[in-house]
Amino acid sequence: MDAHTHSYQDSPHVYVLSPKDLLATNVRSPFFCAGVHPWHVARGGFERVQWWAQQKGCVAIGETGLDRLHPAWEQQLRLFQQHWDLAETLSKPMVLHVVRSSSDIMQLLKARRPKTPWLWHDFTGPPEALPRLLKLHPELYFSCGLRLLQRPNFAGIWAMIPQERRLLETDEAVVTIQDVYKRAGVTETELKPNFQRLFPQVIV
Ligand SMILES: [Zn+2]
Repeated sequence: MDAHTHSYQDSPHVYVLSPKDLLATNVRSPFFCAGVHPWHVARGGFERVQWWAQQKGCVAIGETGLDRLHPAWEQQLRLFQQHWDLAETLSKPMVLHVVRSSSDIMQLLKARRPKTPWLWHDFTGPPEALPRLLKLHPELYFSCGLRLLQRPNFAGIWAMIPQERRLLETDEAVVTIQDVYKRAGVTETELKPNFQRLFPQVIV
């Protein structure tokens, strides 16, 4: 079970449509999420996200989010809100990319409470923000990948994420999801209830 991947996997996974996929009309992975990545907001393409969002197999909206290391901040914010609206219109979870902007996310959450679950993908902390984030959005899930696994403080951060909110992913790393589980010291059985709660359509 891979909660977030940019490549086709043999095991159950949620594939993130690439900018190229957005322009196409079919995709190899049976289950996917559709969004304009914060790195690509200048390209536009939200109308293609709206189209894909209605297709069979679309289990989430995103990845969308905020990245302080990338330009077009105003556009990032605007598109983030548009994805948020779309996710709630279609009652789908939303997948978030957050880089150096957890305080911005918190500000947004103070002004607007989400009506669907969110998945914060590639979570690397800050762990001290977890209680506040979960108070602002009780249906927030956190997916971790190699970036966190390679850090010496992985175990400490992982332990601070509530058990029922944890997921694992490959993202863009050249690694199998089985290897990610092994490195994390976690079994698929442990995370299966979380995966199924967030993505009930995906057959695992
Ligand atoms: Zn990603």
